[in-house]
Amino acid sequence: MQPHATLRIHGDAIAENTRRLAAATDATLMAVVKADGFGHGHAALRALDAGATRLGVAGIEEALPLRWTGVSAPILSWLNPVDADAASAIRNDIELAVPSIAHLGAFATAAARVGRRALVHLHVDTGMARDGAEAAEWRPLCELARAYELRGLIRVVGIMSHLARADEPGDPLTVRQRLVFDAAVRTARRRGLAPRFSHLAATAATLTDPSTHFDLVRVGAGLYGIDPSHTTELRPAMTLTARVTKVRDVPAATAVGYGSRYITDRATRLALLPLGYADGIPRSLSPDASAFVRGRRVPLAGTVSMDQLVIDVGDAGVEPGERVVLFGQGDAGEPTIHDWARWAGTIEHDIVTRIGPRVHVEDAA
Ligand SMILES: *Cc1c(COP(=O)(O)O)cnc(C)c1O
Repeated sequence: MQPHATLRIHGDAIAENTRRLAAATDATLMAVVKADGFGHGHAALRALDAGATRLGVAGIEEALPLRWTGVSAPILSWLNPVDADAASAIRNDIELAVPSIAHLGAFATAAARVGRRALVHLHVDTGMARDGAEAAEWRPLCELARAYELRGLIRVVGIMSHLARADEPGDPLTVRQRLVFDAAVRTARRRGLAPRFSHLAATAATLTDPSTHFDLVRVGAGLYGIDPSHTTELRPAMTLTARVTKVRDVPAATAVGYGSRYITDRATRLALLPLGYADGIPRSLSPDASAFVRGRRVPLAGTVSMDQLVIDVGDAGVEPGERVVLFGQGDAGEPTIHDWARWAGTIEHDIVTRIGPRVHVEDAA
């Protein structure tokens, strides 16, 4: 039985994007593979063969399975609660970001229990009031880290921060954050720390602002064909298709779907697709949202339901069982994740990370 809906992952596109990003910097390239590789699964690891030498994820629970499946590259996990399983991270050579004194204490305690140093990156907030240590906590955090280093409990491998507005190249906040970051690194060095990696840039800054690259760049979106700065053409790495469940020929003035929000303006054929918002199709879409079948774009008709949606295929002659493209790499004129982000009033990240578990995933040949 052929799957109803299929997500094909283009590992070659991930490799190509990685090479492109590696060429944009002299810094070490960390491939960010959080959230199941932004929804691309294990194909995200293609970045490791194409120029990336380190991996980054949010939680420890994302890092451990990578190690268990045989990834030997250094892995950094940067978002964990104070009571996270740091002992497992340390045992498995997972590096940990430290956003507070409380975290540092917990990780040092775990290191003492395991009998091995925790490799840490001190995370400083430089102007987005999200993750990372606040300004007032930074100096004491550096001092405590140095004290734990001298006791053999941790080693500070890196100092990191994150940019709030790098997707708007030239924004003065990026300059300000870079200066605050410079000062934070100097503070750390004056307290006796010798981090190998200072790192601030993600995809947008990697592509647009070399002054932010320091020793390492953390690149996620770009690997998957998304450039938040909209300055560089990268290659999308997903194709989402579904097979037509049934078709019906209807007269003009037929109301389609919940709320009767689409009324046919002529006699036409409607095709039903077994994909809905539970599968990651955004429910809020602009009227120009479309799918691609028999070489042309056709409009979505009416409200996206939980499990299904309807397209208006006109006289294209579409039949049950035919495969329709929701989005792809754009080569044949099909919609891309960029189109879907626009239609949904969101960003491409939100499109690629939301595909649901009912969709069959396969690697492109
Ligand atoms: C997700 C994330 C990144 C990757 O950002 P992109 O814009 O996707 O390249 C880098 N650093 C941190 C801390 C992140 O959370």
